Amino acid sequence: RAKADGGQRVCFYEESMDQALQRRHTIEQDLRHALRRNEFEIVYQPQYDLKTEMPCGSEALIRWRHPDHGLISPGHFIPIAEETGLIVPIGEWVLRQACADATKWPEHLTVAVNLSPAQFRVGDITETVADVLHQTGLPASRLELEITESLLINDTEEVLAKLNRLRSIGVRIAMDDFGTGYSSLSYLARFPFSKIKIDQQFVRNMTRDPAMRAIVKSVVALGKSLRIAVTAEGVETPEQARMLRRFGCPQVQGFLYGRPETAEVHAQGALKATAKVAPLPKRHSAA
Ligand code: C2E
Ligand code: MG
Ligand code: MG
Ligand code: MG
Repeated sequence: RAKADGGQRVCFYEESMDQALQRRHTIEQDLRHALRRNEFEIVYQPQYDLKTEMPCGSEALIRWRHPDHGLISPGHFIPIAEETGLIVPIGEWVLRQACADATKWPEHLTVAVNLSPAQFRVGDITETVADVLHQTGLPASRLELEITESLLINDTEEVLAKLNRLRSIGVRIAMDDFGTGYSSLSYLARFPFSKIKIDQQFVRNMTRDPAMRAIVKSVVALGKSLRIAVTAEGVETPEQARMLRRFGCPQVQGFLYGRPETAEVHAQGALKATAKVAPLPKRHSAA
């Protein structure tokens, strides 16, 4: 094969495969030391009440400041952290740091922390959360845990019991990226969610795609009927914000309202500012 393909190309191909594997291997190795070396950071993105245009909380999003590769997004290392089990200590660090940071915010603001399925499989997540709340002094009602549908498809009874225990200590549970996974509406009846986060792909496409628009509208209505909050993710344009307001979507999160910021910048500015969103048009176009 090597000869038929001219050697060079195959060699190049193998080299780049090699390089990719090598890179992954170094990331994996570096990941093992990153916590101890204090290389993780959290950035916070505000969530807004769409009616009042006031902030209601913020989501904690992890970043890795790698000594050689610079700032790395979670998409590039969270999957590796999940495969290696390192997500358990890393996730606990995020939880503790985020709760500590949130104690410095105005009292009505919540902090949302993303949890991976592995954090439910290993150890006792309820105990970890209770400990962190106790140690940081953050009231349970100010913590929201974001989980995705992938958590709900396996070990269902065990996961349900754990989520119920988390609810019973006063923590809120949000379903993240709603509509992208193995979405089953029965999850909403079965698990104790206090919030649905509509995935950004629906929000991004809803202004030109009537089907996406119908889905967003329906999920907002569903949240209202279930008496749980709904947050639209990835809101980038005033047009999207106007449409969401017309649908009665309670909360929004996205670059239009605020980008993820370091704890310092976030605490100083983002929480006080109100969004600059174009007012509702006088005449509504057809939904
Ligand atoms: P997510 O939880 O759905 O977080 C929202 C992602 O969308 C964030 O990406 C955020 O920066 C981005 N985003 C927010 N507004 C906009 C917008 O208007 N437009 C666009 N295009 N993007 C927007 P990020 O920070 O790269 O995080 C990606 C994913 O990594 C998160 O998705 C979450 O699943 C995961 N993740 C982040 N932090 C953690 C963590 O501490 N633990 C775990 N287990 N996962 C995390
Ligand atoms: Mg999230
Ligand atoms: Mg999401
Ligand atoms: Mg996501």
